[in-house]
Amino acid sequence: MTRLEELAAGLSGVRERIQRACTAAGRDVHDVTLVAVTKTFPAEDVRLLAGLGVGDVAENRDQEAAPKRERCADLAVRWHFVGQVQTNKAASVASYADVVHSVDRARLVTALGRAAARAGRQVTALVQVRLDDDPGRGGAAPDDVARIAATVAGTEGLRLGGLMAVAPLGGDPAAAFDRLAALAAAVRREHPEARWISAGMSTDLEAAVSAGATHLRVGTAILGSRPPLR
Ligand SMILES: *Cc1c(COP(=O)(O)O)cnc(C)c1O
Repeated sequence: MTRLEELAAGLSGVRERIQRACTAAGRDVHDVTLVAVTKTFPAEDVRLLAGLGVGDVAENRDQEAAPKRERCADLAVRWHFVGQVQTNKAASVASYADVVHSVDRARLVTALGRAAARAGRQVTALVQVRLDDDPGRGGAAPDDVARIAATVAGTEGLRLGGLMAVAPLGGDPAAAFDRLAALAAAVRREHPEARWISAGMSTDLEAAVSAGATHLRVGTAILGSRPPLR
């Protein structure tokens, strides 16, 4: 199999799963955006995926994302950033990311907004919520979400898109995504335009669709397993 055939097979499998999950949940498949997580894979894979109709790709490390984005500058794909952003990397990320899913503190909001405004860009920001007690994995505590969302909404250069979460390791993803959906509904009462819910990965996308996710971040099921982190 060529790499193109591998990616086409992975993609069609994931699209079928999304279609089935939408049917089961009574949702329109057009209300769910598939974001292909291309971290650790080469720029050539992004190019092949774009050729297969993928319009959204995601990365999680600035050192890898910035040059990859550069090599794919001619492609009409939206770039999502889904990893923890160090404040000193905010300006770089804001220079190419269309969407940052991992906004979890006011200082980062300020840094991203300043850089985006300076670059004349509008970056969609999602507030990442931490649904377990492990601060090491990033995300704001649920009690801080309203305050950070309001800060994003009031920051030039940023547009509040909604919320994002990763299901806790070993927990029940359905319960986690229901909790995220409730938090997202509370944010929408204050900010009706913030309709995105970014949830669901290769192993739990069905639970995310069922809970109302609008954006699924899927890597392994499309691109294959990643080399272990060194
Ligand atoms: C890597 C990553 C994904 C994709 O995970 P898979 O299990 O490979 O689908 C989704 N979201 C975030 C935040 C990630 O870092």
